[in-house]
Amino acid sequence: MLVKVTRETRIPLHGLDFVGVIDRGTNLVEVRPTTLCNLRCAYCYANAGGQENDFIVDAPYLIEAFERVVRFKGLDDIEAHVDPYGEGLLYKDLPGLIKGLRGVPGVRRASMQSNGTMLGGGRIGELRAAGLDQINVTLNTMDPGQARKISCRDDYNLDAVLRAIEAVPGSGMDLVIAPVWFFGVNDAEIGRIVEFYKGLKEVHPEPGRVRVGIQNYLAYRTGRKLGKVKEREFGHFYSQLRALEKKHGTKLVLSARDFGIHPAPAYPSDLVAAIYQAKLKKRAVEVEVVAPGRNGRESIGTALGWGVKVLNFSGAAVDPARRPRLAIPAARFDVTQDFLVTATLR
Ligand code: SF4
Repeated sequence: MLVKVTRETRIPLHGLDFVGVIDRGTNLVEVRPTTLCNLRCAYCYANAGGQENDFIVDAPYLIEAFERVVRFKGLDDIEAHVDPYGEGLLYKDLPGLIKGLRGVPGVRRASMQSNGTMLGGGRIGELRAAGLDQINVTLNTMDPGQARKISCRDDYNLDAVLRAIEAVPGSGMDLVIAPVWFFGVNDAEIGRIVEFYKGLKEVHPEPGRVRVGIQNYLAYRTGRKLGKVKEREFGHFYSQLRALEKKHGTKLVLSARDFGIHPAPAYPSDLVAAIYQAKLKKRAVEVEVVAPGRNGRESIGTALGWGVKVLNFSGAAVDPARRPRLAIPAARFDVTQDFLVTATLR
């Protein structure tokens, strides 16, 4: 089922990890407009394409939530970063969304994450015209067979992705090539990607126009795992990156500062404050369930204007259509440092 998230659905756009607005306490604010994806990557952290329900958020509703966060921060160098649990180019009016985000007072840049497979056919120019400043494109290998294997798509067209990557810097936008390093699987390919990056950088030497941001593979509990590949600790990852820097004579260890990201006040959550209070007093917090989640175990709840992902392991039915109000013991809530809230029913 495809759930269209509008104001009328009362699905909150703060507090959930898979849709809405994520504020990690910096000047970069993440925007998640959809969970739809055209790939089925074997390592997908979001298990995109493997869920029963997908979500697509109405642009004005999403922009309104984003604007609330930006207004609270009161800065003039906000970056709107479209980073869905899926592929942003499947969002029908992506240019309209980008234009809306870019037009919010205080926003200096707009960027997005993409798997790169849908960037052909004039899309790059269209996004640039809408005000997009940067595209981060995932590129895990230079080998077409391995690319098909990792993306779990026989029709994954690596040549088309590489052509799109090459076209981004010429459009006036910045490009970040974003490979994930799966140790023991794509080690040699990471070196080839670095050489590809260096070639592009020679053509576009302007500072920041072309960068490569190699990421360490992290296996998420609820995501898909790439075969038997183990995640490696960050100490190992950075020592390997430094060795690659030496070998290829180029900077590869990047920090948030290299991307102009700095700490900024986080948009506060009344619900999170109430949960902490309730934990101290060993009380329950009332949550209204307003919609199904991505699968049968999951539903979306709301309280005090904030979202709660409700995971049901209790065996008792929770029917979102009836909008039940659940009194959930505070101890059953988990709150991340980014104020993403999960409540588990047992
Ligand atoms: S990793 Fe990204 S591109 Fe691949 S299936 Fe998941 S959301 Fe889609």
